[in-house]
Amino acid sequence: MTQSLAARSLAAVWHPCTQMKRHEAAPPIAIARAQGPWLHDTEGRRYLDGVSSWWVNLFGHSHPHIQAALTDQLAQLDHVMLAGFTHAPVVELSERLATLTGLGHAFYGSDGASATEIALKMSAHYWRNLGRPAKSRFAGLAGGYHGETVGALAVTDIPLFREAYAPLVRLADTVPSPDARGAQGGESPADVARRAAEGLRQWLEQHHETTAALIVEPLVQCAAGMAMHDPEYLRLARALCDRYEVHLVVDEIAVGFGRTGSMFAHQQAGIRPDFICLSKGLTGGTLALSAVLTTETVYAAFYDDSVARGFLHSHSYTGNPLACRAALATLELFEQTDAINANLALAQRLDGAFAPLNQHARVRHARRQGMIWAWDVQTSLPDFSRRYSAAALERGLLLRPISNTLYAMPPYLLDEEAVQHLAASALAALEDTLAQENHS
Ligand SMILES: *Cc1c(COP(=O)(O)O)cnc(C)c1O
Repeated sequence: MTQSLAARSLAAVWHPCTQMKRHEAAPPIAIARAQGPWLHDTEGRRYLDGVSSWWVNLFGHSHPHIQAALTDQLAQLDHVMLAGFTHAPVVELSERLATLTGLGHAFYGSDGASATEIALKMSAHYWRNLGRPAKSRFAGLAGGYHGETVGALAVTDIPLFREAYAPLVRLADTVPSPDARGAQGGESPADVARRAAEGLRQWLEQHHETTAALIVEPLVQCAAGMAMHDPEYLRLARALCDRYEVHLVVDEIAVGFGRTGSMFAHQQAGIRPDFICLSKGLTGGTLALSAVLTTETVYAAFYDDSVARGFLHSHSYTGNPLACRAALATLELFEQTDAINANLALAQRLDGAFAPLNQHARVRHARRQGMIWAWDVQTSLPDFSRRYSAAALERGLLLRPISNTLYAMPPYLLDEEAVQHLAASALAALEDTLAQENHS
């Protein structure tokens, strides 16, 4: 008998973010193909991709417009190194990202963690080029997530991901999170934002001489459990960073490209950051690509006759033409589908469908920002997340709670059947999971 794909995978593949022994009880699901919001496994079952495959997918899987662009690009130019060479897809994408963000000089990497590291390195190197090398440390928000390579872990405040590697990492300092759930005694989300900003002010007052940059996930700290905050925090953080001469890096890796209701999350605060990190949705969820954009001021500090003052960072696949073409096709889809406006209507339909979850007796802090929904579930189950995921899969739905926070971050193109399936199965899986409380 030939072994199943799952068994061969367990023998040959080390899966991410996984205690592999757990797979003894529940093997990985082998996906054969994907179409729109649906994943189809090798046994003929289908699952609605309620988390957009780790937040990367925007317009559904196998979108014909992106497929056509990739096929066309593959026939012309697969790859060329970007040092000393250039090509139309990387130029056009960089021009378009500059128009969309108001920043420029796009520097490319392959994943989100490298974008974080590029921004941090650029920031510290900027201060060095200005003759202020002491400004080499970073600050991040409590509960922040910016990737898991050794450099990015420095600003990722998630103990489970960081503890084992703490000796390898030069930890950044954390400043208070403006998470609106932290409201005390009648505080509004904007009040919480102001209180967190006061914590930032106190910290900057002491440490600005040695601080290069503050890095934030604007509006939603996703990996922290979809912790949402008022845009007032971003306005105050911008003003404080200006006052104390510290860069503001916005990590839009998860929240960019329409996720929070605007093209980029920080735009809802009307601020201009010094660096923007992009990845995940950048290619519509098809290929690994990341980019960092910055200001003329930062760029100018590197522009010199001296090689050592340049930004000498590189990745082999920097600016890969296929990935850039996928990104361009994704940006075209934003226009073709009028995605930002269409999502307003889609989000309202989903709000209606999610009403029973919002009102569920065990749910606290039902919340939404753009195309991100989250519910904190009160349960005595210590392994709620694992049990919920399993229950949801049984019902043909991919949702993976973060600790006790159930959330949905679906693709932007959902028909009525998908909307109803997502909401009804999410609720049913919650009941299935809570029913296990008495037996555990
Ligand atoms: C996912 C994520 C990253 C890291 O991206 P990878 O491609 O997984 O390295 C960084 N920042 C945020 C906010 C993210 O959500």
